[in-house]
Amino acid sequence: MTILHKPLIVLAVAITLLVQGCGMSSHPVAQAVQGKPTSSADMERVLDQPGPVQLETINSADWAVPLAGLVNLKSPAAIKAGLKDREEPIQVYAHVLQHPQRGSFLVDTGVSAKLIADPGKEGLSWLLRQGMPIEKMKIQKSTADILAALPGKLSGVFFTHLHIDHISGMPDIPNDVPLYIGKSESTEKNLINLFVHGSTNQLLQGKQRLQEWRFQPDPAQQFEGVVDVFEDGSVFAISVPGHTAGSAAYLVRTPQGPVLLTGDACHTRWGWEHTVEPGDYTRDNERNLKNLISMKKLVARHPKIDVRFGHQR
Ligand SMILES: [Zn+2]
Repeated sequence: MTILHKPLIVLAVAITLLVQGCGMSSHPVAQAVQGKPTSSADMERVLDQPGPVQLETINSADWAVPLAGLVNLKSPAAIKAGLKDREEPIQVYAHVLQHPQRGSFLVDTGVSAKLIADPGKEGLSWLLRQGMPIEKMKIQKSTADILAALPGKLSGVFFTHLHIDHISGMPDIPNDVPLYIGKSESTEKNLINLFVHGSTNQLLQGKQRLQEWRFQPDPAQQFEGVVDVFEDGSVFAISVPGHTAGSAAYLVRTPQGPVLLTGDACHTRWGWEHTVEPGDYTRDNERNLKNLISMKKLVARHPKIDVRFGHQR
């Protein structure tokens, strides 16, 4: 390649990115080695029976973000309720799962104190920080403190999705810990990813490849896919895309009963109760709403389910 060609190639790459967007991350990705595709009917057959997995939801950080991101303010229910954009207090959670044989897992990471102390050093770009008020995060229990309280080593992280507030604990996650995501979560191209791509890559740098759950069409057609995570019916990953391309929810069978972790397919109690999907930064509102309705129908069939939303109790 001659020196003359280089600027042209850079320009061509820039134009392609602007037209097509990019994936959320270019971190290596592979199919998950664990987890068996199953049917929502098989999940529903067992979910009301007490299960073996201990689950603790930890508020890792208090935060405040615009309400317009948390619920779709253009939805008829939000207009009817007179909701206007405002700063809304939220929490950033990590959920700790203890499986009696398989060990300790996190659903999402919580927040690393290192990231709040020096966001630039840990990889959050200046551009991203202009749109994401990371300085407003107030740590309650850092990811490092959550890991220090585990009885043993962390065996894996199951992500609901890869938005920055769900991977903010990555600076504390050891490099050898397996990481699991929904289908196409990191790879589907979207213009908005231009703002997060570099920061997401930085937070994942040096970590294990991302393993995509092997979601298959649900034979019972309730969800876009269900995976039996440990192949023992104790934890299920449920494909609920819309907020992001590969958003996943998790159904955990605990000794106290079933718990549904919706991730950001539903951020708030208000959104759940009024059947309104998240607002800004949502990839596909219609698909998100459809999957929110599917989760509400699941809970209507199994009212014992304790539902935990993405950012509020
Ligand atoms: Zn979130």
